[in-house]
Amino acid sequence: MPAERRVEFFRHCLGDEEKARVLAALDETILTTGQAVTEAEAALARYLKVADVVCLDSCTAALHLALLAEGVGPGDEVIVPAMTFVATANAVLMAGATPVFADVDPRTACLTVETASPRITPRTRAIIAVHLYGLLCDMDALGALVEERGLVLIEDSAHCLEARRGRVRPARHSRCACLSFYATKNITCGEGGALATNDRDLAGRVRRLSLHGMTTAAAERYGRRYRHWDVEELGWKYNLDNIRASLLLPQIRRLDERCNRRRDIAQRYEAALATMDGVEMPEVPQREWSARHLFTVWVDPGRRDDILFDLQQRGIGVAVNYRAVHLLKYYARRFGYRRGELPVAESIGDRTISLPLYPQLTDEQVEWVIEAVRQTVGGDDGRPAVAVGREAAQCHVAR
Ligand SMILES: *Cc1c(COP(=O)(O)O)cnc(C)c1O
Repeated sequence: MPAERRVEFFRHCLGDEEKARVLAALDETILTTGQAVTEAEAALARYLKVADVVCLDSCTAALHLALLAEGVGPGDEVIVPAMTFVATANAVLMAGATPVFADVDPRTACLTVETASPRITPRTRAIIAVHLYGLLCDMDALGALVEERGLVLIEDSAHCLEARRGRVRPARHSRCACLSFYATKNITCGEGGALATNDRDLAGRVRRLSLHGMTTAAAERYGRRYRHWDVEELGWKYNLDNIRASLLLPQIRRLDERCNRRRDIAQRYEAALATMDGVEMPEVPQREWSARHLFTVWVDPGRRDDILFDLQQRGIGVAVNYRAVHLLKYYARRFGYRRGELPVAESIGDRTISLPLYPQLTDEQVEWVIEAVRQTVGGDDGRPAVAVGREAAQCHVAR
């Protein structure tokens, strides 16, 4: 494949509007948590139709504080899927609790009632559902399970702001949904996150815990009349600043538009790859159910790394999301996990390759990726299976 057919794994969509917002934020007196953060929180709450959103400096922080605010700590077990980013499990350890890994559904790669239930013990306090690749888990079923068993349900929604299953969206059937604005996520400010909840008390507690446990934020303290603050419980330092929050505002308005473009691209990949020997894909039962954060293919585990490097050689940006967390050295050593215990997550971890998926990908680039996968996996003549799109390079964000 010619060298100019390069497709980066990810590109962000920050443009003139975001830059103008950052310059405006830099002209304000208070650079940290203040007006821009409040506006971003309000815009996210409107978008998700939840009572409150607390912006934080990462999704990991949101998961950590969600567990602390729910009183999860030493002696408690928290069920997390073995197929996720390591942050989901690390947050449980940060809270002093023990992560217990569950397997995932072989079709969707997500946690289900069937895979979580066998892991419940008398010590289980909470379940963290991860909307892997953007697919909203079956929250009706998981919500019913935690209700029946008296457990806390928390959503790791780092991949999934935009998805809906009927009326169900992130944070509807759980205590809260944790969002990420990390560099490669659907909206980004470099590093950032948020906790979305319908419980205003929980939001207030998390807001306090994000700032040492202090009772007022800087913007309030230095306002017209100085206000003393107090500390009633120990907190962390996880607040988001106005500089980064200002980058989020223009992106929130474009969430659905950009998600739709990713859905179109994902469906194009699926149409072309569905009939290709040696390539499987996770199921997305309905278009609306997934925010389509990542597009992954599953190949022969014996050939995965060769295919990965070959795609890279052909100029296609690729990644592995993820290898099963319980087999990562630290977790395997500390908790004694062995291969074979969670076979579905392990198998996916051995077979998965993520392909480029972001709104500015042109139809032509999508075809290059498909062609590269066909040549790499199939070793055939590389003839495209679907007509190459003629549309000009078009970023929906077009700047
Ligand atoms: C990115 C990610 C996180 C962590 O997000 P940060 O904002 O980087 O802390 C957590 N869970 C999943 C599934 C992720 O992909």
